[in-house]
Amino acid sequence: MAKKDYYEVLGVIKSASSEEIKKAYRKLALKHHPDKNKNDKSAEAKFKEASEAYHVLSDKKRRSNYDQFGHAAFEGAGGRGGFSNFDFSGAFSDIFGSDIFDDFFEGFSGTRGRRRRSADFRGADLRYDLSISLEDAYNGKKQEINFSSSEKCGRCNGYGSEPGSKPVTCSVCGGQGSVRSSQGFFTIQQACPECSGSGEQISSPCEECRGIGKKQTKKKIFTSIPKGVDDGTRIRLSGKGEAGIKGGGNGDLYIFVSVRGHNIFKRSEENLFFEFPISLSDAALGTIVEVPTIDGGKAKVKIPAGTQNGKQFRLKGKGMPIMRNKDYGDLYIQAVTEVPVSLTKEQKNLLEKFKKLEDEKSNPIMKDFFEKAKRFWKN
Ligand SMILES: [Zn+2]
Ligand SMILES: [Zn+2]
Repeated sequence: MAKKDYYEVLGVIKSASSEEIKKAYRKLALKHHPDKNKNDKSAEAKFKEASEAYHVLSDKKRRSNYDQFGHAAFEGAGGRGGFSNFDFSGAFSDIFGSDIFDDFFEGFSGTRGRRRRSADFRGADLRYDLSISLEDAYNGKKQEINFSSSEKCGRCNGYGSEPGSKPVTCSVCGGQGSVRSSQGFFTIQQACPECSGSGEQISSPCEECRGIGKKQTKKKIFTSIPKGVDDGTRIRLSGKGEAGIKGGGNGDLYIFVSVRGHNIFKRSEENLFFEFPISLSDAALGTIVEVPTIDGGKAKVKIPAGTQNGKQFRLKGKGMPIMRNKDYGDLYIQAVTEVPVSLTKEQKNLLEKFKKLEDEKSNPIMKDFFEKAKRFWKN
């Protein structure tokens, strides 16, 4: 299919000014942005198409190439080049507030640099890996968390300037917060390395934090691990991460919970399971057994006479707590009949006697199978 004309895509005339092109693109990008049109393939395609058109028409050199040669100007030796490999939906996911977007486009659209917003001075999020036992996951617990983090410097209130002094305009970027450098065809705009984008330089650094605005510290907090927490659960403790500076908020602390395996109970979401060995005679005659439960107690289970190997019994409400509704899952136990080994002489004699008395009625599954086999051999 022939590619659409870039001017047509943006809905502008060939002699449109760069301002008109930009305006048209912003309008289209807002309308078709993937964040606004979840799972809409045609909007995504339109967004990509508009972005590609803007990429070309917003740059003088590219635009004049396109005016002369059309789409052929951007086709590599191996067929379609350039933009087909770009993932616009990901790169510009936060289009009108995103650094990626602005840095990328400011490079060739010539808009003025801007200072970093206070959100950029937010502290980093932290991750804490916590491993707990299945019993802890069942009961829930108060957990002490010890970790290293930063806290806002109280002397300068996180601004890095010695009280009484004021920051001055950054001498490297002149207060713009960003610097430009040319790399061949592209002009790259980056945050100023001197002031990290703030546009200011500290004239007299805070004596306590040496101008950083925060200091490293050991932290100890207590948090409650909820009953029923599952392996892989992430608990977010808002504002407990690294300290922000220059008015930025704190990051968050994420506790990644892993629940260790248990030597009796296997877990599947809210249900628990284990295999319970019973003797052949118990399976045949029936019995009442005591089984362990995750709360540390016991439960009685009636094994009826004639229980086959693999038979499952459900103990309602003896599973794990369900976080969302205060209910409990179930415990499933599966009978595993054990064939006796290393028999005494007396046991052997009794079994021999039993064997002589065994008939079709005592082994209905066996009887059924051999009748099928007989018919199979006849045919
Ligand atoms: Zn300080
Ligand atoms: Zn600077």
